[in-house]
Parts: sequence; C-alpha cells; structure tokens
Amino acid sequence: MSPRGWALLTLAGLTVALLVTVAVFVPWHRPPAPRADQLAALRDLPADQVARGREFRAALRPGSYAALAVGLLIAVALGLTPLGSRLVELVGRPFGGHWIAQAVLGGLAVVLVADLLTLPFSAWRQTVLTRYGLSTNSWGGWAVDLLKSYAVSAVIGAVALFGFYLVIRLAPRWWWALGAAGAALLVVLLSFVLPVLVEPVFNKFTPMEQGALRTELMSMAARDGVPVRDVLVADASRRTTAVNAYVSGLGPTRRVVVYDTLLREAEPAEVTAVVAHELGHAKDSDVAVGTLTGALGVAAAVVALYLLGSWGLLLRLAGVDSIAHPRAFPLVIALVTVAGLVATPVQALVSRRVEARADAHALALTGDPAAFESMQRRLGTVNLGDPDPPRWEYLYSASHPSTVERIAAARAYAREARR
Ligand SMILES: [Zn+2]
Repeated sequence: MSPRGWALLTLAGLTVALLVTVAVFVPWHRPPAPRADQLAALRDLPADQVARGREFRAALRPGSYAALAVGLLIAVALGLTPLGSRLVELVGRPFGGHWIAQAVLGGLAVVLVADLLTLPFSAWRQTVLTRYGLSTNSWGGWAVDLLKSYAVSAVIGAVALFGFYLVIRLAPRWWWALGAAGAALLVVLLSFVLPVLVEPVFNKFTPMEQGALRTELMSMAARDGVPVRDVLVADASRRTTAVNAYVSGLGPTRRVVVYDTLLREAEPAEVTAVVAHELGHAKDSDVAVGTLTGALGVAAAVVALYLLGSWGLLLRLAGVDSIAHPRAFPLVIALVTVAGLVATPVQALVSRRVEARADAHALALTGDPAAFESMQRRLGTVNLGDPDPPRWEYLYSASHPSTVERIAAARAYAREARR
C-alpha cells in the first residue's frame, strides 16, 4: 500500500478512536434543567445585575467577532494567496534561504503578523474590561502580560516548527505518520508541563494559610477520594477582579488553586462549592480525557493536512509546490484556522456536558445546593456574565452551562434531596 493509502487508513482509525472516546467519556445522558426552571431562576436574579451583565457582554461582542473575522481574513490572505509564502521566503533570505530560518523564523513571522493585526482588538477589549471595572491591570501590566505570552508561544512554536520540518526532511514520504505521533506527544507533554512551568510566569502561588477553610478543603478532597498535595492561592487580583479556582497536576502533584479574588469576594461555603466542582473534574479525569481527545484530534489534523496537501488547487493558490515546504506554512495556518472555527461549537458542546457533570458532583459532595446557588449568583455578578446568553452565542461558544441552567440544576438537586 502507498503512503497515501496508509494515511487514509490512519485517518479513519483516528477518527473512529476520537468518536469512541467522546461517546464513552462525555456524559451525554444527563438532560439539562427544564427551561421553565431556568426562566424562574432568571426572574429571581436582580434586574439591574442582569442588565449590567448583558450590557457588558454586548460591549465586548463587536470587538471579539471583528477579531475573529479579521483573524480569518488574514489567515486566508496569507495562506490562499502567494503573499504568505513570499513572507516566509523574505524572512529566510538573510540566512541564504536556509530551511531552518524559513521554517522557524518564517513560521513565527506568519503568526506574528496575525497577532499584530488583531492586537488593536485585544487593546480595545482591555478598555472595555477597564471601563466595567473587571480589569485591575495597568496598560504597562497588560503589555508585559502580552509580551510574556508572545515569548511563551514563540518558544513553544519554534520547537514545534523546527521539529515538524525536521521530520519532513528526514522522512519525506512518511512525515505525516511521525508528525502525527509527535504532535500528539506534544499535546500530552504540554498538558503536564504548562501548569507547572507556564503558570508561574503569570502568577505567584502561595500556600493557603492554615485555618478552618483550608482544613475543610483538604478533608473534602480526601473524602472525595481525590487527595491533593496542597491548596494554593494565586495572586490574580493584580490583573483582574474576576474569581476562579481550578485543580491542576496529576497524582502526587495535584493541587487546588484558588484565586485570591475568590477568597476576598465569596463566603467560605461558596469557595467550598467551587473547589468541589473542580474536584469533580479531577475525579472524572476530565483533564486526562481532554488531553486524549486533543492528542487524537491533532494527530488526525496532521494526517488530514498531508492528504489535503495533494490537492493541486490549494497549492496553486498558495503559490507552492508542496504542503511539506516551509513556504506552505501559511496555507497550513489557513486550513487550521478554518478547521478551528468549525470545531469551536463541537468543543463547546462537549465542554458544557463535562462542566454540568462537575456541577452535579459538587452538589452531591457538599450536599449544599444553597451555597452552590449563591456562588453561581456571585460568579455572575463579579464576572459580569449574561446569566441567560443569546441562544446562537451559547451554542457557538459557551464552555459552561449558563448561570440560570446551573441555578436550575441546583434547585432540582434540592428538590430531589428533600424527597
Ligand atoms: Zn469546571
């Protein structure tokens, strides 16, 4: 069988594995709370708070969709015309057109162009966050954060670009197989490494001070069968007033991270409810399953890229003769961008199901639906959410059930518990 035949077979295998993983590990059977309960929850929320949340989300909307459109436009302009391949060539020229310069510097330049052209939208978003009091960051702090994230992406990007084009040179006929395995490995590696190496670049973490709350959180985790090494507090307040918590690390390195803003804003029982939700993610191995689906997804994407790379029309549009050449990297980015837009609603749907399960876990673990509901109200108020967002936006991009869904679920749990 030819490499192309093997690639088709591999793509079919990866697609089946992906579908089976999603079918088996995503909780599809739990129906959302009835719409009538959601509307009742909405009526119980203070009208001015609902209005403010909606106003804030409406203020963000034009900028975020414009950024999406501009990002797509740039990707298409660079990838489906010869512009991008010329840029890669230009960047490589001072180095005699060496493949490493084209692959690494040219590749990073393509990404940087897109980043710079969407930068005004990020700045505009920052002005909205500041206007609504959600950002506590200065423009200096914002710029430093931006530069740090550019630096982190440049390092990871350079390694990935070098590795990818090295594999292509070493195995011109079978690069897609090695590339798929390498990309999958990178996803797994990043999911272990990012929390440990990258989080400290942006935040400082200190152990939570001894006291009733810390003791309660540690004992709840032990009771749940999800032992954690430590409860850490992140200094999120230096850039935001938004509240959050998460569990990161696996096995012996697992830790609960709580934003200092959460401790300042919320009652201890509400903090407990948030951490119980996060323990649900750990207990159901949501990070591990997410990593697995991500790894299968990128592996399938690399193979699909190889197969699409034999489509003459695409190559002619991009002005290249092979998808495997660094000059075709802008075409790769264009294809990845389009695929990302299509994948967004699917990822959001899966995420909402997984989040609803973690909510159910939190309710069962704490047995305290009242604290859960007040936490949801507080999250909505502090993070300025729309408690019941427009349906199309919810379906396209909401990673969590809406506030009214989550409150309705808590009330359904309370009803069941009283029986
Ligand atoms: Zn969650």
